[in-house]
Amino acid sequence: MAQRLIVIGGDAAGMSAASQARRRRGRDDLEIVVFERGHFTSYSACGIPYWISGLVPDPEALIARDPEVFRREHAMDVRMRHEVTTIDLERREVVAQNLEDGGEVRERFDDLMYATGAVPVKPPWAVTDAHGVFGMQTLDDGAALRDWLDADPQPRRAVVIGGGYIGVEIAEAMIQRGLSVTLVEAGEQPMSTVDSDMGELVADAMRGLGITIRGSLPVTGLEEHNGRVSAVVTEEGSIPADVVVLGLGVRPNTALAEAAGLPLGPTGAIRVDRRMRVPGLPGIWAAGDCVETLHRVSGLPVHVPLGTHANKQGRVAGINIGGEYATFTGVIGTAVTKVCDLEVGRTGLRERDAKAAGFEFVSVIAESTNRAGYYPGSRPMTVKLIAERPSGRLLGAQIVGWSEAAKRIDTLAVALWNGMTVDDMTQLDLGYAPPYAPVWDPVLIAARKAVDALAALDR
Ligand SMILES: Cc1cc2nc3c(=O)[nH]c(=O)nc-3n(C[C@H](O)[C@H](O)[C@H](O)COP(=O)(O)OP(=O)(O)OC[C@H]3O[C@@H](n4cnc5c(N)ncnc54)[C@H](O)[C@@H]3O)c2cc1C
Repeated sequence: MAQRLIVIGGDAAGMSAASQARRRRGRDDLEIVVFERGHFTSYSACGIPYWISGLVPDPEALIARDPEVFRREHAMDVRMRHEVTTIDLERREVVAQNLEDGGEVRERFDDLMYATGAVPVKPPWAVTDAHGVFGMQTLDDGAALRDWLDADPQPRRAVVIGGGYIGVEIAEAMIQRGLSVTLVEAGEQPMSTVDSDMGELVADAMRGLGITIRGSLPVTGLEEHNGRVSAVVTEEGSIPADVVVLGLGVRPNTALAEAAGLPLGPTGAIRVDRRMRVPGLPGIWAAGDCVETLHRVSGLPVHVPLGTHANKQGRVAGINIGGEYATFTGVIGTAVTKVCDLEVGRTGLRERDAKAAGFEFVSVIAESTNRAGYYPGSRPMTVKLIAERPSGRLLGAQIVGWSEAAKRIDTLAVALWNGMTVDDMTQLDLGYAPPYAPVWDPVLIAARKAVDALAALDR
């Protein structure tokens, strides 16, 4: 009899796992049933802000493979609009509800792939029946926001609550659609994924685009009028709003896992080993935004909900489910984003992470340009490095600047992944020509500065 794999969640982690398992085991050897509660499979949530702004005209472009492709070409039984409501580990069964007709199905499994992603953080004050308030996690969320922005009467005033990268990208999308935008942030400024000195550069650029930033301002409630949201209430009064987007971060979607007895780690996400197995539960796998992983620099478990990890982790799980061997060895926290033309990149630890992990370190900021100063289009680029003291090992890096800033972080990520010191880095053979970099690349200038800072402390 064929083994049976049940996948809960039909996006990055779930479908990567299913696809890799199918590549290794034919349809007579492995039956695959996928339950997805939404309307889409294998879509790019990362592209939603660019669909909201209109840069990507068609949501179909965000869908890598639709359910029919998985059914036809990969012999998977993909059940859309089916929400798994119970996992019974003893009977090795799941119960799923058909969200269209309310019917219930019960399916047995040998292997279970848990890939339910994350859910937007929604404090009690944000729970409302008023129309015009949106979380932003799935393509269905993006579609709901698009419909609201296109409906009559057209919203004119947007308030984005929370200045993480999703909030910042949605604020950009709204300004590009011609709305007036206020971003409200409980912390000092948006982009707390970088240190505050680098975040300030991002905040300045956002103001330059016409986005009003209200920092250090906790939101306490929402007001509504005739069933529509009308304002965001803060400790310093109300901010009028026709549309509100919650960008307060996400938490792992673990309710179902918890109820079934899957173990959670200190971050609140599901614990997995490096083969993406749930410890102590043979045949149970988990991957993506619902799991925690190892930070290779701090050595601590972290919850880093990013598509890049979800795809890799799903792939690892699928290879293992398919009977081969693969591992996911952790993350270093590399991420990039942009606000219009301003690019932001980070990798490794921020200053506060390095402190919390108990490192001694120096940090330096180097100002440079993306191209030779005389070359047309040369713009400022700021590179921050954090290096362990006295070893000089790179612990973290951040870059803010115009074109070619964000992907430069990859050079630093590779250096960090391989445990390079800032001294080693000053010798890196990086490409140079005036249209691409000054003769001393901003990365090299920053490394030299870090070497000097370490030497000054030891003199
Ligand atoms: C606006 C936005 C921009 C982003 N930009 C980036 C970026 O630039 N770079 C990057 O690396 N990452 C980005 N991300 C994050 C990235 O999209 C996620 O990390 C990735 O989608 C996680 O994949 P996943 O498969 O773990 O979870 P998800 O993509 O969330 O998929 C989980 C699926 O499970 C389904 N599901 C949940 N519970 C059940 C249930 N009980 N039964 C059936 N189905 C269920 C959900 O409907 C969902 O489709 C962005 C996310 C958003 C929202």
